[in-house]
Amino acid sequence: MASFSLHGIPVSRGIAIGRAHILTPAALDVKHYLVAEEHLEAEVRRLQDALAAVHRELQTLWNELPKDAPTELGAFIDVHALILSDPMISEAPLDIIRSRHYNAEWALLTQIDELSAQFDEIEDAYLRERKADIQQVAERVLKVLMGSEQLMPKQGELEGDEFLAQMIVVAHDISPADMLKFRDRSFIGFVTDVGGQNSHTAIVARSLDIPAAVGMSQASTLIQQDDWVIIDGDAGVVIVTPSAQVLEQYRERQMVALRARKKLGKLKKTPAITKDGTAIALMANIELPDDCEHAMESGANGVGLFRSEFLFMGRGAASMPSEDEQYEQYRRAVAAMKGRPVTIRTLDIGADKPLDQMEHTALNPALGLRAIRYCLAEPQIFLTQLRAILRASMHGKVRILIPMMAHAFEIDQSLAMIKRAKAQLDDRGEKYDPDVKVGAMIEIPAAALALPMFVKKMDFLSIGTNDLIQYTLAIDRVDYEVAHLYNPLHPAILQLISMTIAAGHKAGIEVAVCGEMAGDTKLTRLLLGMGLREFSMHPSQLLAVKQEILNSDLDSIAPQMRKIMRAMDPDAIADAVMALQVL
Ligand code: PEP
Ligand code: MG
Repeated sequence: MASFSLHGIPVSRGIAIGRAHILTPAALDVKHYLVAEEHLEAEVRRLQDALAAVHRELQTLWNELPKDAPTELGAFIDVHALILSDPMISEAPLDIIRSRHYNAEWALLTQIDELSAQFDEIEDAYLRERKADIQQVAERVLKVLMGSEQLMPKQGELEGDEFLAQMIVVAHDISPADMLKFRDRSFIGFVTDVGGQNSHTAIVARSLDIPAAVGMSQASTLIQQDDWVIIDGDAGVVIVTPSAQVLEQYRERQMVALRARKKLGKLKKTPAITKDGTAIALMANIELPDDCEHAMESGANGVGLFRSEFLFMGRGAASMPSEDEQYEQYRRAVAAMKGRPVTIRTLDIGADKPLDQMEHTALNPALGLRAIRYCLAEPQIFLTQLRAILRASMHGKVRILIPMMAHAFEIDQSLAMIKRAKAQLDDRGEKYDPDVKVGAMIEIPAAALALPMFVKKMDFLSIGTNDLIQYTLAIDRVDYEVAHLYNPLHPAILQLISMTIAAGHKAGIEVAVCGEMAGDTKLTRLLLGMGLREFSMHPSQLLAVKQEILNSDLDSIAPQMRKIMRAMDPDAIADAVMALQVL
């Protein structure tokens, strides 16, 4: 087959070479995981048992039909029984389990999707409508499957599996919650049709530290199941069915990158100090407590951003995590960081991170009931989380970070809620650190333009550049059609960041950047030049940023900064920022 390439948005660095595994939206609705070789036959039996159970179900339905039931009803059951016995349902999914290692639900849905596509092409309207019958039968089987015990792979069970070492996921879209499900799987790369560079899906891909590209437009239809694919995560390019020569070139590049990474590993214990002796704090962004291991391995000075909303997502119709459940997760993170500070951001739900049980009615969710707005509208949820965080503060150094603040009353109400949560714990006789620091995310332009309001009442600030850029430049961070406008070097963005850092320092409070800009080595010197002394990023980016810091000299950056901050022409700014890197 001829080779072709697709161009999109790079979101996670590196090169992945593997075989495409197309994920359909329906497949994303059920659990999808790979089954270890030794459990394949048991998984096949799980599906066979479910098929047999549905057969019995249909039989019972038939037997219990009232005598006066319309004849169509019996015919309807007959059609479903026929579909169920057809090899396209009773055998093809079993082959998929054996050949692709998919779990039973995923295998069944893959087959149904394939059949549905074939039915869509049928001209006869009557036959075309049989698609609905097939889907109803599949739903019955899925229901039975979901009630049966699943053979999810255990940690490490799939490691070294040749089949998995090659798997690249290709999908139209993957939600951040779905992306999280991939954490324990051994997929080596992601490609999606939609999405922006700083969408939360992209952010999770970066935290998984595997190459990914989004905004590929038609990738999930153009790429075929099992096609060989190369993802160039640095360029945002996907090469499908590459020639042997191209493959060889990319293998070579993979080796070079691996060697460079190994070299960086030696910096783990080196303190991040600039050439002129300025110490910089390098913190980690995490989504779940398990990420702390990676943070510690990268030598992070603490957690600068724990996106706690990931504990609330992907729970289906299940309720919110209880106070005890949250406390346990926060405690785990605090313990794993061994005395280093852990900054827990309160629930930042909404926009591209909806809760499963949230209604999707807002026309413009990024401007809707998100983050602190949601928490203040749902005080019981907020108080529960605050109590859990406060209780975890007994196990180490915890900081509370409030997202999306813009109004003075949001500051006052948040602080009042923290006070109330403390009082509730006092009533219960539970302990917490009474001096837990409380910070605000500066990620709405209004906040960056009203800093006196924040520095007076907050203990620290953290600049969320992802949203700051989204809201300042009025571009949806998940919309790939406007992704080219997402420019961290726009003069307005530089002014807002610089002003926030200066105002914080003038007031004597710490300021960090925890948006994706902090992990971009091309911007490290720019941020240092603005006075930033605390960077928070994915652990996988930390050592490269540290290397940049070790090679930077603040005295030689300073004169260039004046030029950059005065410039209004984007090209001139980009050139000047590039020039910082060769100082
Ligand atoms: C940000 O907006 O920069 C940020 C760090 O928060 P999130 O990406 O989770 O919105
Ligand atoms: Mg944000």
